[in-house]
Amino acid sequence: MTKVANLSQTRGNSRPAYQLRISVTDRCDLHCIYCVPEDGIEWCSREEILRFEDIFLIVREFVSQLQVRGVRLTGGEPLCRAGISSLIELVRTLELDEITMTTNGYKLAREAQRLREAGLSRVNVSLDTLDSETYRRLTRGGELSRTIEGIRAAKACGLEPVKINMLVLRGWNEEEIPRMAEFAQKEGVHVRFLEAIAIGETSLQHHSLWVPADEILERLRRTFGVSVGQRAPGETETRLILTPKDGPQFEAGLITSESDPFCGTCSRLRLSARGRLRGCLLNEAEVDLFSWVKDPGRTTSDFLERVSRAVSQKPPRRRTRSPVRMAEIGG
Ligand code: SAM
Repeated sequence: MTKVANLSQTRGNSRPAYQLRISVTDRCDLHCIYCVPEDGIEWCSREEILRFEDIFLIVREFVSQLQVRGVRLTGGEPLCRAGISSLIELVRTLELDEITMTTNGYKLAREAQRLREAGLSRVNVSLDTLDSETYRRLTRGGELSRTIEGIRAAKACGLEPVKINMLVLRGWNEEEIPRMAEFAQKEGVHVRFLEAIAIGETSLQHHSLWVPADEILERLRRTFGVSVGQRAPGETETRLILTPKDGPQFEAGLITSESDPFCGTCSRLRLSARGRLRGCLLNEAEVDLFSWVKDPGRTTSDFLERVSRAVSQKPPRRRTRSPVRMAEIGG
């Protein structure tokens, strides 16, 4: 009990309950230029990554000890982890408000119904462009129509609200911002425009790729009336209301990770496929939960001590650049 109290103090009053993001694999079926290097990354072996039973035990501890209410599955690409629905079935037996997933949508058309039945609440799908050729180049070989079919399948089977993440990158897709908003409205999904974070691959060329939030708004204003709302505490998204010249208004989101970061209220903890826990996306420091979960004599106090260390790595303010790879930790 003392440990939990300490952990709440480390968290500070401004941080709401923790949200846990779990990277279930470091593998991905796309090779986005901003995420993985051209010659790929060395994937973890099966023995090095957490089994579903291990993930379940860790999440159970987070739920019972730290009142975690939401879990997001990510990757690599979470749908590249075989049998992912059975992990969702396991985790749904815990007292969680929602289990969500961030995916490239590539296998979603085939998996959406199964995921829904297993207990997945909703999905965020990464879609940076509506141009097939740009999609192919950006993902190093991907086929746009598959992701669009995936988005439609997710919506059709109720994995809603479906959210699209559009990472805005200079010279790649900034001209498409209004078109992506129109697409989202037409498809009945919610789009969020993401500023590129200086991390991993993007870090190297960040100065040339970064499109600031102000410019994203300015580009939207050329097509829509734009009203900028608040960012709710603990949320990453600034609400936008877009009003087309004709037609009803709709909501979108802006994620200002670089120009207006939210580190002070960030409540995320990230568990990698290798069972390492990080308090911050941009901080390489990690805490080993792999050895904790593999130890038959593991104790709750040891768990809390380890989590507390990860939490203490959460910086109050934004770090500048990071060599951490998105592909390993899942965004
Ligand atoms: N494979 C899944 C997918 O494509 O959604 C999950 C992993 S991916 C790393 C998660 C999210 O991170 C994606 O929405 C992607 O756009 C975002 N992301 C990757 N690199 C980024 C960067 N440098 N800045 C901001 N977001 C980034």
